Amino acid sequence: MSRRGHGKVTVLAGGVGAARLLRGLAPLVPRGQLTIVVNTADDDVFYGLHVSPDIDTVLYTLAGLSDPVRGWGLAGDTFHGLEALRRYEHDAWFQLGDRDVATHLFRTRLLRDGIPLSQVTALQARGLGVGARVLPMSDDAVRTIVETTGGRRSFQEYLVRDRARETVRSLTYAGSRGAQPAPGVLAAIEEASLIVIAPSNPLVSIAPILAVPGLRQGLRRAEAPVVAVSPLIGGRPVKGPADKMMRALGVAPTPSGLADFYHDVLDAMVIDTADRAHLAKLEGRGVAATCLDTLMRSLGRSTAVARAALALGATVREQRNLAS
Ligand code: GDP
Ligand code: CA
Repeated sequence: MSRRGHGKVTVLAGGVGAARLLRGLAPLVPRGQLTIVVNTADDDVFYGLHVSPDIDTVLYTLAGLSDPVRGWGLAGDTFHGLEALRRYEHDAWFQLGDRDVATHLFRTRLLRDGIPLSQVTALQARGLGVGARVLPMSDDAVRTIVETTGGRRSFQEYLVRDRARETVRSLTYAGSRGAQPAPGVLAAIEEASLIVIAPSNPLVSIAPILAVPGLRQGLRRAEAPVVAVSPLIGGRPVKGPADKMMRALGVAPTPSGLADFYHDVLDAMVIDTADRAHLAKLEGRGVAATCLDTLMRSLGRSTAVARAALALGATVREQRNLAS
């Protein structure tokens, strides 16, 4: 255990919600102790380039380069290249910024040369000056497929092109059965003193990570407490279709619904004050819980939420020590 008493911290992360937490968490965890396992099931190829939206959001945020308003891409980026491309591809609906393209060019070339995504990501983290270890959940392709009432969509078609307007019938994480965790992922779970499930969309950011063979079992076996931070505030996501998707797939968009969804891996949950009515319900089912204002619109709020997750994890560990 470290000087500050947290030891190694491993975070399961999607994109924007995770990044908001990580901005506060990374400075609280000593160098070399933080590992972030990132969803890659919404990766896709656009205009010939391999884009890893969640990895990029996490890397750009930790590098202090992310666009604070959009939540994705680089601050101050321009879109001249995309405009030029639209002369040939009139419906180029996936936006890539001019500087952002460098990330995808580099990634695509290395992947084409046979270098695994985890190594590419490590090189990008280094290039961006990111100290935390950022690991894709897998080097193998896993892709979220959304069956909607209108037909089968890739995740980005559903979310970006069709703006999540269609009703979701089912989700599959294609390729997950044969995928292997990226090097270091299982060890990061096994060796952690605390595992945090970021306030990311449970169905399309966290579930694909849990679907990689060995991950879920690793979390169940892990010595570290598993603490989730809820992405819901008053039963609604801050942004995105999480509540709609949860309802469509029979998961209540509440902390209790989230606890059901994560039941076999979860020890504790940080929830928003607006959902405080769920505190007793969570405690009643053995999930330690705490509440605070979880809207992370500033670094200060991100820090407060990160501290709450660290403290809750420490409490669970102490209780376990007392019990044993
Ligand atoms: P994506 O991959 O970029 O869509 O991002 P994630 O899956 O990581 O995050 C989406 C989730 O983040 C949504 O369900 C939001 O409710 C949640 N989220 C975004 N900002 C905040 C915030 O400030 N506080 C909390 N509690 N959740 C947030
Ligand atoms: Ca995502």
